[in-house]
Amino acid sequence: MTASRALHARSLADPEGFWAEQARRIDWETPFEQVLDDSRAPFTRWFVGGRTNLCHNAVDRHLAERAGQTALIHVSTETGERRRYTYAELHDEVNRMAAILQAFGVAKGDRVLIYLPMIPEAAFAMLACARIGAIHSVVFGGFASVSLAARIDDAQPRVVISADAGSRAGKVVPYKPLLDEALRLASHQPERVLLVDRGLAAMARTPGRDEDYAAWRGHVGAARVPCAWLESSEPSYVLYTSGTTGKPKGVQRDTGGYAVALATSMEYIFCGKPGDTMFTCSDIGWVVGHSYIIYAPLLAGLATLMYEGTPVRPDGGILWQLVQEYKVNLMFTAPTAIRVLKKQDPAWLKRYDLSSLRLLFLAGEPLDEPTADWIQQGIGKPVVDNYWQTETGWPIIAIQRGIEPLPAKLGSPGVPAYGYDLKIVDESTGEVCAPGQKGVVAIDGPLPPGCMSTIWGDDERFVKTYWSSVPNRRCYSTFDWGVQDEDGYVFILGRTDDVINVAGHRLGTREIEESLSSHAGVAEVAVVGVQDALKGQVALGVCVARDPARVADAPGRQAFETELMKTVEQQLGAVAKPARVVFVNVLPKTRSGKLLRRAIQAVAEGRATGDLTTIEDPVALEMLQDALKA
Ligand code: ATP
Ligand code: MG
Repeated sequence: MTASRALHARSLADPEGFWAEQARRIDWETPFEQVLDDSRAPFTRWFVGGRTNLCHNAVDRHLAERAGQTALIHVSTETGERRRYTYAELHDEVNRMAAILQAFGVAKGDRVLIYLPMIPEAAFAMLACARIGAIHSVVFGGFASVSLAARIDDAQPRVVISADAGSRAGKVVPYKPLLDEALRLASHQPERVLLVDRGLAAMARTPGRDEDYAAWRGHVGAARVPCAWLESSEPSYVLYTSGTTGKPKGVQRDTGGYAVALATSMEYIFCGKPGDTMFTCSDIGWVVGHSYIIYAPLLAGLATLMYEGTPVRPDGGILWQLVQEYKVNLMFTAPTAIRVLKKQDPAWLKRYDLSSLRLLFLAGEPLDEPTADWIQQGIGKPVVDNYWQTETGWPIIAIQRGIEPLPAKLGSPGVPAYGYDLKIVDESTGEVCAPGQKGVVAIDGPLPPGCMSTIWGDDERFVKTYWSSVPNRRCYSTFDWGVQDEDGYVFILGRTDDVINVAGHRLGTREIEESLSSHAGVAEVAVVGVQDALKGQVALGVCVARDPARVADAPGRQAFETELMKTVEQQLGAVAKPARVVFVNVLPKTRSGKLLRRAIQAVAEGRATGDLTTIEDPVALEMLQDALKA
């Protein structure tokens, strides 16, 4: 048996023993009385009765040994700012922020909504909330007023922390007017709004409500605020899922379980050691940012690099220049960032000294083989695909290189991580599928520490959404299709709601997409089901051609379309053949790089696209409309 499999087996056979051992990685003010209480499943509690604090473990705990070591590096290629904070300095700033929040009356259990760009104050704010037991809810800065208002009404924050503006690709994006508009739309109103003024855009201020961060920071001086010791299951934060498939869900996270899970993952999965530098190129508005920009690296005593900017400005070498300059050891981003780099000159990958870098982690969407190959060969470092969700907070499937460097299999993020009783199950019977048989990726309860405790304010929706979709089985559904091979490697085959029904045949859009992208002339592709009077649904392929000249005129498009249909027909059969393939220059995606299939489907069916504030480039939809009309 491989070491990963042995550890996995042990974590399931004796979860209490396994996790009690892992719990030694963090400080407990009061030791827990019970490791696991699943008597009210699926409302699992880990480390019952234990009292701890995330901020203490991420910051204060390190002061004895590494007060002078770098904790936080901030780089903005948007404004040119670069700052570095030692653990002692981070401690000072977090204390100040905590003192300001306390001055506003924020107490344990109160919500604080953070709507900030990637600036150090965002880290201070999250850690300050954790320090005083307030529940933070970070809303991605790319969301506009309607999305922000919905989250304000759901989380009901006492205080909102925001800024005058962010900046994206050299363009200032004023945040304050978006926030003001959101507050106009929301029925819930915060008592105070704390504003960081970066000097990027003018701000209107509402007297009595809007407060200035710099003024308050001076005012509280060298304040010290003690950590609030929370019972392990008390909430640390609420984070909304990215909304790819519909109404976002407010994922509620506990405190002790999360701290233990992240600290453990830093060793077994991310191979991080105290003193290392981790560069997670993502946003604090996403779960990857919560877990691997802020909490996990700090819990494990690393330095974390927080980056405001894109991978291609000022040039396609910026990420690697940062690796060289800050001697980055571990890097984590999404496949979409690599696909952006792929459009740049590959010489950028060779220009800088990357000798400090050990591993590149990628997560968030399927990692296609050509992208994985391209970057792995380009930088000469192992690429570690890992699969997880906002709901779980840390990887469900990965090659756990901190345990052993199992060989990777292309197209698979790896094997189930310790703690997860992962099963591929038949969606209509709940039975476990045989190796090689496709089913729903499910996790038999209890979920390991660190996973969601419930949906904020809606226990019923938590049970109904996640724990009731597979018949005859008490399991958590990921809503992704998957298949496991004889060696235990899992392959993710797309989302369960990406299934289309063509004349009674259920087809996964992901499979059709893979078939289309196997054609060398295809750069990117999305497949959706479109309503059809005769067949129920038919598949529509939306393609980006590798060579735009090929689809520049109608005969070219026609010929390519026919060729692509033939490809699918040969690989998957005639039922899977798309009814139509159209060509665009860019696919509609979310700001986090995920395909907006429901928007493509809406446009194709002539319906309203709904809330699209998460879209990266609205022009993509116009382009699609034109392509469909042609
Ligand atoms: P919503 O749940 O609101 O629709 P979302 O599912 O896009 O949004 P996330 O929690 O950020 O929000 O994304 C998790 C999903 O992303 C997974 O369920 C899976 O579909 C996909 N995913 C993440 N990592 C990988 C990976 N390594 N390979 C394939 N798919 C992945
Ligand atoms: Mg999801």
